[in-house]
Amino acid sequence: MKLFEYQSKRLFGDNGIPVPKGRLITGPEDTRAAALEVGFPCVLKCQVLSGGRGKAGMVRRADTPDEAEAIARRYFREVPGLKTVLVEEAVRAERELFLSCSVDAVSGRGLLMGCALGGVDIESVAREHPNDILKECVDLDRGLQRFQLNDFLWRLDLRGEPFKQAAAVTAALFRLFLALDAELAEINPLFITPDGRAVAGDAKLVIDDNSLFRHPQFTIDREHYPSDMAFEAAQEGIPYLEFGGDISLMCAGAGLANTVYDLVSFAGGKIANYLEFGGPNYMKAGTAIRLCLANRPRVILIVTFGTIARADVMAEGIAGAIRELRPDCPIVACLRGTGEEKVEEILAASGVLRAPDTEEAVRLAVEIAGKGGMG
Ligand code: GDP
Ligand code: MN
Repeated sequence: MKLFEYQSKRLFGDNGIPVPKGRLITGPEDTRAAALEVGFPCVLKCQVLSGGRGKAGMVRRADTPDEAEAIARRYFREVPGLKTVLVEEAVRAERELFLSCSVDAVSGRGLLMGCALGGVDIESVAREHPNDILKECVDLDRGLQRFQLNDFLWRLDLRGEPFKQAAAVTAALFRLFLALDAELAEINPLFITPDGRAVAGDAKLVIDDNSLFRHPQFTIDREHYPSDMAFEAAQEGIPYLEFGGDISLMCAGAGLANTVYDLVSFAGGKIANYLEFGGPNYMKAGTAIRLCLANRPRVILIVTFGTIARADVMAEGIAGAIRELRPDCPIVACLRGTGEEKVEEILAASGVLRAPDTEEAVRLAVEIAGKGGMG
């Protein structure tokens, strides 16, 4: 679950990371009062979950109450789905750093990243000068060590007071990253002011959906998800991602899902959405197929290899869902693992196109999608 900037900044502020003075408004009529409270010049920031707001004109500076109100009016008129705007005191910045904590999936460790050239062009720095992005792997049991932190900040060209302040911010950010079970905790930019203070200019927190049960303070609201389907999946505890293609993928297990995704791409197909049908979700075929259909795919591709998540139970679920939902697009399935010998019979009357192995299932699905969805 992605949090909005204002939510992340509240958590930052409560956990020792300095943030600019700010007020949240829900309509243009609140702008003047908010701006007068934070002072001028101020910055008005659209609270949307997409990145790149600076470049999209969704972060603007105002020097007077009139200007602030005009900007807010324009935001609320022009930005689709906009609910809130953050009005903040403008910070005078001498430097803008990039700072992030994430998980390095390959090593299973924490990954601290930093860049002296933070701000809106961080993506092009990463592309064109990857060596300018510093990386420090952190053992998650031991946490961020002082010597690592010192070395990291030294390499970001920080000295003196800015060094001290950035050290406090980085340590606090890493602690928060761990405490919240975050997938990402990012500050870009971290302002260094002329008087040596470190202030978080922006804030991004992504909480691992699988850990939300440990963090009841985060409620699963529609506004945190990109679509109704993603929202419903999150409520059901089903891992779900959208990619904009035309093949809906139901897979059991992240490894198999990644493999099938790659095989589909390699064969020239494009995934509409991926939905996790394994683990605790293997009996939710009805919900899963309904969510896939809502993407209007040309074909649904189901690939599983289950032990506890039994193939025959999944097949029963799929057959039942088809009877109920009468899907208007072809379904290709390869269900393997415990009980696979019963799958044939269970799906016999269902119209599901069965493939003997993953490769054949992918080939068939990509072929059907290529023909516009006719089986
Ligand atoms: P993003 O583009 O969605 O990441 O939005 P940001 O919150 O990072 O704002 C975009 C850019 O606006 C930042 O990288 C800064 O360069 C600039 N910016 C935003 N607020 C301030 C501010 O208070 N002072 C200064 N100097 N620059 C700001
Ligand atoms: Mn930013």
